[in-house]
Amino acid sequence: MQGVLENLRNMIYEQDKIRNMTVIAHVDHGKTTLTDLLIAKSGMLSDSKAGTALKTDTLKEEQERGISIKATSISLYHETYEEEKKEEEVVLVPKPHIIHLIDSPGHIEFSSEVTASLRVTDGALVVVDYIEGVCTQTEMVLRQALSEKVKPVLLINKMDKGIKSEHDVDRFYDQCTKIINEVNYIISEFIDEEEYKIDPALGNVAYGSGYFGWAFTIPDMVKRYGKGASSKALTLKETKSYHKFVVSSLIKLTNSITEENYDATKKMLAKINIEIKEKCWEEEHSSDLLKIILKKWLNAADCILNMCVEHLPSPVEAQKIRIATIFRGKRTEEQKESEGDLEEEKEGEGSSEETKGNVDDDYVIESMEKCDPNGPTMIFISKLFPLDQGLVAFGRIFSGTVKVGDKVKVFNGEDPKPQIKTIKKVGICMGKDVESVGGMPCGNTIVLGGVDQALRKEGTIMSEDTTANTFKSMKFSVSPVVEVAVRCVKPTDQPKLVAGLKKLSQTESMVKIETKESGETVVAGSGDLHVEICLKSLKEYAKCEIIASEPTVSYRETVVGECESVLAKSSNKLNRLWVSCEPIGEELCKEIEENELLKCKKDEIQKILKDKFEFDQNEYRKLWSFGVGDAEANCVSDKTVGAQHMKDIKGNVLSGFNGVILNGPLTGEKIRGVRFNITDTKVHSDPVHRGGSQVVPMTGKVFKGALLSAQPRLQEPMFLCTVKTQEALRGDVYTALGNRRGKIVSDEYSNESTIVVQAHLPVAESFGFAEYLRDETSGRAFPEFSFSHWETMASDPLEEGSMANEIVKAIRKRKNLPEEVPVVDKFIDRL
Ligand code: GDP
Repeated sequence: MQGVLENLRNMIYEQDKIRNMTVIAHVDHGKTTLTDLLIAKSGMLSDSKAGTALKTDTLKEEQERGISIKATSISLYHETYEEEKKEEEVVLVPKPHIIHLIDSPGHIEFSSEVTASLRVTDGALVVVDYIEGVCTQTEMVLRQALSEKVKPVLLINKMDKGIKSEHDVDRFYDQCTKIINEVNYIISEFIDEEEYKIDPALGNVAYGSGYFGWAFTIPDMVKRYGKGASSKALTLKETKSYHKFVVSSLIKLTNSITEENYDATKKMLAKINIEIKEKCWEEEHSSDLLKIILKKWLNAADCILNMCVEHLPSPVEAQKIRIATIFRGKRTEEQKESEGDLEEEKEGEGSSEETKGNVDDDYVIESMEKCDPNGPTMIFISKLFPLDQGLVAFGRIFSGTVKVGDKVKVFNGEDPKPQIKTIKKVGICMGKDVESVGGMPCGNTIVLGGVDQALRKEGTIMSEDTTANTFKSMKFSVSPVVEVAVRCVKPTDQPKLVAGLKKLSQTESMVKIETKESGETVVAGSGDLHVEICLKSLKEYAKCEIIASEPTVSYRETVVGECESVLAKSSNKLNRLWVSCEPIGEELCKEIEENELLKCKKDEIQKILKDKFEFDQNEYRKLWSFGVGDAEANCVSDKTVGAQHMKDIKGNVLSGFNGVILNGPLTGEKIRGVRFNITDTKVHSDPVHRGGSQVVPMTGKVFKGALLSAQPRLQEPMFLCTVKTQEALRGDVYTALGNRRGKIVSDEYSNESTIVVQAHLPVAESFGFAEYLRDETSGRAFPEFSFSHWETMASDPLEEGSMANEIVKAIRKRKNLPEEVPVVDKFIDRL
């Protein structure tokens, strides 16, 4: 172990020998088993434990549940062998490598962890179950990888299951080809470049069984069994015949060993050129003998690590391509070009705030693209995790070298104001341990101590004397739609709870913690399982007794109609505001929420609004603002004609607007998809009478009044629920989904007897659905959830007794709001 660590320490400086990779897969496809195997190979876990020890599943929770929740990083030392001519002889020379490997969770509710892992790695080992094929989560994480320009290699895993059940060699090849085609289809949707494609002839796909420890690639087999070296690319026919040769040998070996027909086995071994020690034949169980033989013949760890070293890029190669995708700054020339294009459309607006004063962007980009250890320090932090009672930051160093004692600028997220911190620890992540190193050069993943106080989750760290842009924030594909209210049992424990919540929000990428107007503190996550895990962590961090409510779902308030202008007066009766409202439409909501419209530069926003949403220039000029936070998908426009003092009251009106959209009149939930139009105002000429204390509450009232006048509705979050099961269970699955208000959206065969049913299922109905479905199908169907969309409920929340009305009342009760559902008259005034 000590020797291994020493080797690792030496390797961090050898940039072309470094690989940063994430193992991604659908839940249960065998990532963790495989990762253990790789760790065992590198000498950090004994061989006998691999497959069962699950070193990377370090959390107690994970071992109990048997799934990976938190992405864990571990660095491996691996030697590949290259042929070199020495004197007259060709010898195999070891070439050492360091592989920083992250085993990411496959469960959909933790996909924010996957996003964080992908950002700091350059390659992805995509693991796909041979029988189940490409599943929803495989597709989702692969898409995420590609959007970060992370290059994939593929392992078709659990092939042993096929060897047992399927003896038709051609069908094997067809099933593998089907998986490769599906993976390539997803890749082709993102990237044209051929080098990202999976091709058996090139050797960026391995076939194997993590559990039984064997795997092979076609070029490996060509090297070993090909007749004479050839520089020619393999034809499809040749590829197929090598695949067939290995699979049929595997089947024959398995059969002869299971039948204890050792003569036949020995003949087979001679044919494939494998010798094993004499005493191995004495193994008590034939399955052990099989394992020994297969490991010797087709060692999975060697095969997979070799494939990763050969086909995944080193940081030097990867950073050339990836920096433009993940860094916010642009080179001066690119900046000028894009400004030049937009200048014509702009109307005297100041230049983009984004790059102002970032004098070092050119220099920093060049250094990152070259992966220059002597350049300025640039580090992206993707998450924080607990270590020795405190928190440390985990990320990737893209440029420069960082040492203990360095003073650095720490930017929290995209916050432009940094804090100066001193680095207290620099280390390599080894599962739950961290191995300290004095300094870490670029190209490696990294653990840093001393910076956690300046970070909430993710951020950028740069040398103190560098003035450059930060990295782009990560885009998460899950939404925190399930929440619980928490409080401590003893009121005196409140400070402990607050400290625990802070730590939780730092360590969980997707959790949202909010204190509502009603005073309750809410922890929101992406599903009931995710929230449950968050609560467990919170209890550990806070070290006090905590009570949590049952999980509930967050709703949104919206409108489906338009209303005439309504009026509210300020409390001193000296100011009046008339406002109407209308829906902005689902397309624009999605443009804001999914495509992050508001992160674009002003000119780009204007162009998109004009091209896609028919906002002409006049309309755009009247647009005062979009919403904020989780209520971004709303806007407010000034549609007054000849009204006075509009500029003076704008700030306070916007404060009122932001207050309302975060706290809708019906439920106190956020507002979504509403456009408020200020149609007229009468404002007092004396600033004393039209200050914030008058204008903000007036705005709040009139906006709420307008919303309630335009056919208000609730929106509920919907999951896309995917169930893969046998055809015979179709009826049971349909009934279970139907009983929970699920709507089937697709139903397809994945093979002759297996179907994949997808349905939209209200998140509110998803609690306990997995157990319910399991009961209904005797454990043969299991649902997966991913956030799909917000769905407007048909029923009228203002109509007594309607479904929406009941939900409104239940939320009000839970939040200790007055029981009465508010009506328009409460908010508007008459002339
Ligand atoms: P993860 O959720 O992707 O990390 O999957 P795990 O590694 O936890 O494996 C899920 C289940 O599949 C466990 O029961 C493993 O024992 C089993 N498994 C993993 N790899 C293989 C394999 O190569 N062959 C077979 N037959 N089972 C496997």
